[in-house]
Amino acid sequence: MISKSFKATLICSIVLFSSCKEDTKIPEKTMSDNVLIQEWTGPYNGVPAFDKISVEAIKPAVEEAMTLNLAEIEDIANNTAPATFENTIVAMERSGKALSRVFAYYGIMGSNVSSPEFRAVQAELAPKLSDFRSQISQNEKLFQRIKTVYEASQKTPLEAQAQRVVDLTYKQFEMNGANLDAEKKKRYAEINKELSSLYTDFANNILHDEENYITYLNEDQLGGLGDGFIKSAAKIATDKGKDGKYAITNTRSSMDPFLTYSTERELRKQVWKNYYSRGDNGDEFDNNKIIAKILRLRKERVGLMGYDNYAEWRLQDRMAKTPENAMDLMMAVWPAATARVKEEVADMQTVANELGDNITIEPWDYRYYAEKVRKKKYDLDSEEVKQYLQLDKLTEAMFYTAGELFNYKFTPVPEGSVPVFHDDVKVWEVTDKDSGKHIGLWYLDPFARQGKRSGAWATTYRSSDSFEGEKNVLASNNSNFVKPAPGAAVLVSWDDATTFFHEFGHALHFFSADVKYPTLNGGVRDYTEFQSQLLERWLSTDKVINQFLVHYKTGEPIPASLVEKIKKASTFNQGFGTTEYLASALIDMKLHLADPTDIDIDKFERETLDELGMPKELPMRHRTPQFGHVFSGEGYATAYYGYMWADVLTSDASEAFKEAEGGFYDKTVADKLVKYLFAPRNAMDPAEAYRKFRGRDAKIEALMRDRGFPVPMD
Ligand SMILES: [Zn+2]
Repeated sequence: MISKSFKATLICSIVLFSSCKEDTKIPEKTMSDNVLIQEWTGPYNGVPAFDKISVEAIKPAVEEAMTLNLAEIEDIANNTAPATFENTIVAMERSGKALSRVFAYYGIMGSNVSSPEFRAVQAELAPKLSDFRSQISQNEKLFQRIKTVYEASQKTPLEAQAQRVVDLTYKQFEMNGANLDAEKKKRYAEINKELSSLYTDFANNILHDEENYITYLNEDQLGGLGDGFIKSAAKIATDKGKDGKYAITNTRSSMDPFLTYSTERELRKQVWKNYYSRGDNGDEFDNNKIIAKILRLRKERVGLMGYDNYAEWRLQDRMAKTPENAMDLMMAVWPAATARVKEEVADMQTVANELGDNITIEPWDYRYYAEKVRKKKYDLDSEEVKQYLQLDKLTEAMFYTAGELFNYKFTPVPEGSVPVFHDDVKVWEVTDKDSGKHIGLWYLDPFARQGKRSGAWATTYRSSDSFEGEKNVLASNNSNFVKPAPGAAVLVSWDDATTFFHEFGHALHFFSADVKYPTLNGGVRDYTEFQSQLLERWLSTDKVINQFLVHYKTGEPIPASLVEKIKKASTFNQGFGTTEYLASALIDMKLHLADPTDIDIDKFERETLDELGMPKELPMRHRTPQFGHVFSGEGYATAYYGYMWADVLTSDASEAFKEAEGGFYDKTVADKLVKYLFAPRNAMDPAEAYRKFRGRDAKIEALMRDRGFPVPMD
């Protein structure tokens, strides 16, 4: 079993509009004929009309859907009957369906097919959406009714899922200032409004810098680069009107391979600098001042509720519970990670010296010489491995895994039967292998394009819940593979294959959900990456290797010797992967524990890294001015540690499979996996669910073993 490269898991985030519901049965009488707000029609219990999206329609649709939802909320809040679970909590779970439908389009337009016109709409809507959320979260009458139901349930508990949705709803309101007095509530709402605009500005600045710092190469500057990479670089340049040149775009999917293979050191430096300077160029698109403002506003906001800092407020309902617990985990791993970097740099320097390159390893050399060390130590050629990693075959491998673990079958939907937002998008129907029961649809948008955000992610357009009858799931995976020349196979790196499995893990988590109420579909941030990270482990199981990792020309399975090399190389470069990640996670936490009054972001980053003993040969994975996880929204703020938290669970849970008789395909462990780790989502406390699966809490030792770090003795 290969322990996967850590960095591959970090580029994903989940986009979930979990507070919204879909598919109403209540007639929405006052609804306009705006195409984007209509109920979904067509096959599979209705599907989004992605072929009808337009920038003109989206703004009025969002505004109308907000109005409809607010009217529903007002009805609940102003009900004259005494507050009950049914007329308050269930009624809330039932509301917001039109908005949820609109958000499916809004999400696609923001992430998959964005444009300057849409971004203008987004900037205009961001404060309105924030206002809208505040109007619900600060609705005094509504909160009093929720509080009444909550307090009654503390005396007479409800059935488990009903109780959990009451607890989560009450906590969410409380954490969002519902217990504040009128004056503080007003300030709270102002802060949120300002923050939402700052988040949009932050994200748009990064996008600007990604689109506007392109390095164009001449024919004589292509040394070391692979054929496929050169071809796509030529195509991008042509598309941008620079025929005969080769474009290195300012995104990870372009930067990473370029730095790994290019023999042009000066160009490597330039590409590196462009990439790690995003949002930090001292111009109108610079994010440093925005970050300082965000930190001040976040601290002020949680201060209104009596919290010392943002991290303390944020982590109370996470699995880690406190910033100290999260810091303890990170600092337990940090010394081993940075010590490993020293060894890696020494190995690379030796190689550079042997080659007579006469250089000292700099950050723009790390990937390049690491690749040379990889070849020397493990004789592993990433390009050779790629020949066995075809996108289509990997997709089949994921379907196979889902069949073995979840009993799912994936069948392509008839051509043209389900609307898509781009020709590249393909759709499959998911059914139960034995009963044939329909479970949902899986949308795949695999290729990079202008207007699509970088990285890989998973979303749902419709999630499962059962309180109004069973629902089928519409889930999607999105990647940024470089689209090949027509007719050529899509060959991907081992890391990208791992990420592909990772995102599919999120999709399976959506499909397998067995929860009664929509709120219970929500993710717990330091837990919800665990299921997806765990699924990565099936990429390197023998059954997947032998059936699906076959050569794109000959169809021969990947040779055992090459697999052996991959396995040996699996702990390779863990110093780099773990350190670049941890540096970002530690800065995220420390920024939010610091006093932001006069904070100088650039200085804070530099000094904190110095204090930590950050090796000078590599940067943070996401430098602060480009740390979208943390500053283009709140999803991962003081939560970036969550990937490692989840990885402790991942390593520990995968040892449960390794120890089982049937290994990774052991039916008993697989059943427990689905039953306790996937199906409950947030219907059960994560720590409790994990104990049911494993019989105990997770241990950090498994993670240290996976990365080839010494296991600490205590
Ligand atoms: Zn993920």
